[in-house]
Amino acid sequence: MRKRAAPQATGGTGKGSQTRDLTRPATPEPLPIPVYDNHAHLEFEDGVDQLDPLDSLARAVSAGVRGIVQVGTDLETSRWSAQLAASDPRVLAAVALHPNEAPRLFAEGLLSSHLSEIARLAAQPRVRAVGETGLDFFRTGEDGRAAQIESFETHIEIAKANGIALQIHDRDAHDEVVATLLRVGAPERTVFHCFSGDARLARVCNEHGWYMSFSGTSTFKNAPALREALTVARPELVLAETDAPFLTPEPFRGRPNAPYLLPHTVRRMAETLDEPLDDVCARLAVNTERVYGAWDAGDDD
Ligand SMILES: [Zn+2]
Repeated sequence: MRKRAAPQATGGTGKGSQTRDLTRPATPEPLPIPVYDNHAHLEFEDGVDQLDPLDSLARAVSAGVRGIVQVGTDLETSRWSAQLAASDPRVLAAVALHPNEAPRLFAEGLLSSHLSEIARLAAQPRVRAVGETGLDFFRTGEDGRAAQIESFETHIEIAKANGIALQIHDRDAHDEVVATLLRVGAPERTVFHCFSGDARLARVCNEHGWYMSFSGTSTFKNAPALREALTVARPELVLAETDAPFLTPEPFRGRPNAPYLLPHTVRRMAETLDEPLDDVCARLAVNTERVYGAWDAGDDD
């Protein structure tokens, strides 16, 4: 299954999609110790040359990215993610209805039946997270918020019922995301995917033991607050992701993203933390396996 990435969702600021360079950056020098991409969407096509999901995984491995969490955003992509994870040892899956889907599904009377199907998928052994769910006050207005919050709360319950991680999409909604987690009770392993907060939110995450997954945005020139948050975050709570095909790290911002480009973000993390790259990679791998379990463990952990 392939979906075309929406041009406005590429994370560029102010650059029209027609000016984007759609060629793929070269594979970077491999990381010295393999890590995992905590959040990617292999079903989305972007770029002039198509990268088949299996080719994308092979290329990631060649760059020192030994596995990924493939993330669904609706029923179709969640089913596909679960299937890919069941058939490929390099993949674990996350399943959910994206927060920007929830208001539409609610209006069409489909929200609760779709949530039931997400709950069924979440019980599969290689589905190790519920996500991406959360709140998006950037793209959803006041009228959609009640449905979005209801959907988020149900996803939290599904994660807890299955004893798996939660991957949160939080866009312009830090306070309400935190309030919802505290009201409903956060799952034991809760991840802020594409962490977009500052040092203040990092301290809140530290206090509650919530994970912060840093994406390519943490390499952007205009993101010193994200890098400050990284230096504040407890090291055992730090993860890394691409959110591919979106949010390509520097120096390739705006070009098509894929898990093989994660090393650019990881190298920048090591620089920001002023730590040896080996140490950062080793810790990212350990943290990731603590959240999702082992990639190569069969079907029953
Ligand atoms: Zn995503």
